[in-house]
Amino acid sequence: MGSFLKSVVSDVSKTVAHTPHIIAIANQKGGVGKTTTSLNLAASLARSKRVLLIDLDPQGNASTGLGLDYADRGRGTYGALLEDVRPESLIRPSMHKNLDLMPATSDLAGAELEMIDQERREYRLRDSIRELKGKYDIILIDCPPSLGLLTLNALVITQSVLVPLQCEFFALEGISQLVRTIERVRTAFNADLHLEGIVLTMFDTRNNLSSLVAEDARGFFGKQVFKTVIPRNIRISEAQSYGQPVLDYAPSSTGAQAYLALGKELLKRLKKKG
Ligand code: ADP
Ligand code: MG
Repeated sequence: MGSFLKSVVSDVSKTVAHTPHIIAIANQKGGVGKTTTSLNLAASLARSKRVLLIDLDPQGNASTGLGLDYADRGRGTYGALLEDVRPESLIRPSMHKNLDLMPATSDLAGAELEMIDQERREYRLRDSIRELKGKYDIILIDCPPSLGLLTLNALVITQSVLVPLQCEFFALEGISQLVRTIERVRTAFNADLHLEGIVLTMFDTRNNLSSLVAEDARGFFGKQVFKTVIPRNIRISEAQSYGQPVLDYAPSSTGAQAYLALGKELLKRLKKKG
């Protein structure tokens, strides 16, 4: 390829790759803070960016956590994966002007099986949301607790994976499998994919174990671990039961302040990468 053409192609791929920034929040372990991080980070980023949160977990906790009643969800992510529905009609506004949601419905629980014999089954989400490019600066995807076809659909379109790591026993167990999966997806489907970083969640200052896990993670992953640590904070889980991000429910709580800081740290990282 001539050098002129090469530079054009690389410019184009840069534009495509970075607007919007698509980040999957993934960890095949359940209960580590994926959903909590997705919706609270989304609310934090929405203070300065146009954000879409895609709920890719059949449990639909991110949709509930943003206060979206079941009756108002429409076809949601299932529609994007398995029905030819325009993505605009699948998206719902949130309480924040800059934060939209593609909700999950219980149909999504059957989606992995239904997609198995579909054409381009790994690319269903990518094909669907392609036309949304330009509408959002950042798209976050809340993944289910597995590395199946749903998570694969997320990894195929994302530039980066953000991994919540619960500061608990066995936290690092399974991370190497996740890292291997990311590497495999990068080779087979998506050369842009990389690990954005590890977020330590549910950190308990009164518990030595939390500090040990944090130390271990920093020893192993170095700078990939975000400086911001999310503390265990009851306001965070309360907020979800009221259908609100913690930034709205208890803005001065340690949990809200931590997610605000995480948003800022992430934006700084993205800016550095250009
Ligand atoms: P996942 O999506 O990985 O399964 P969740 O985000 O749903 O995990 O979190 C699991 C549970 O832990 C939820 O009940 C949530 O409210 C609670 N939780 C998550 N993060 C915190 C935190 N920092 N402090 C207190 N409770 C938390
Ligand atoms: Mg979840």
